[in-house]
Amino acid sequence: MNKELLALLNPKSQSLEMSSVSHNSITPEDINLILSYSGLSKEEYLFLLMKFVSVDDHRDDFFDAIKKDYDSDDGSVLDKIINLAIIECFEPKCVFCRGTGFIIVDQGVQDCPHCHEGVFAFTDEIRSYLLGLDNEEYSQQQKLYETIKEKIQNIEISSLAKIGDV
Ligand SMILES: [Zn+2]
Repeated sequence: MNKELLALLNPKSQSLEMSSVSHNSITPEDINLILSYSGLSKEEYLFLLMKFVSVDDHRDDFFDAIKKDYDSDDGSVLDKIINLAIIECFEPKCVFCRGTGFIIVDQGVQDCPHCHEGVFAFTDEIRSYLLGLDNEEYSQQQKLYETIKEKIQNIEISSLAKIGDV
């Protein structure tokens, strides 16, 4: 099982259109069969779709799959926490230097101060800012944030292991 097979699941992919005219091609049914043999959980399956097919198309389903394990009196903070954890796990590319790790200043080129080699540096200060929480509010939510992020990271590890991509 490899990334290219997963990409075929995307209805918009060109390979899928081609597969409909060739008897020897892999069909979406084949892929679903392989996935079912891989023993992926729903969360793991959705994670792979986000990672290899499209973050935007599958983010909402993945979000719901993560959220169902938590009850919260304040749904809006929980929503923000889950969304930020997903962003941190999926789109760590620095927005200031567009992932290059360098910015151009009057004196020439210098290392981007917002990231490490183009990977955005998330700090607690940035997380609390993005969540719209002050320091005290953030410290109350920090444990939950770490737990959800770890959960997503564990889904990544287990899903990649199941499709033999590690
Ligand atoms: Zn940067």
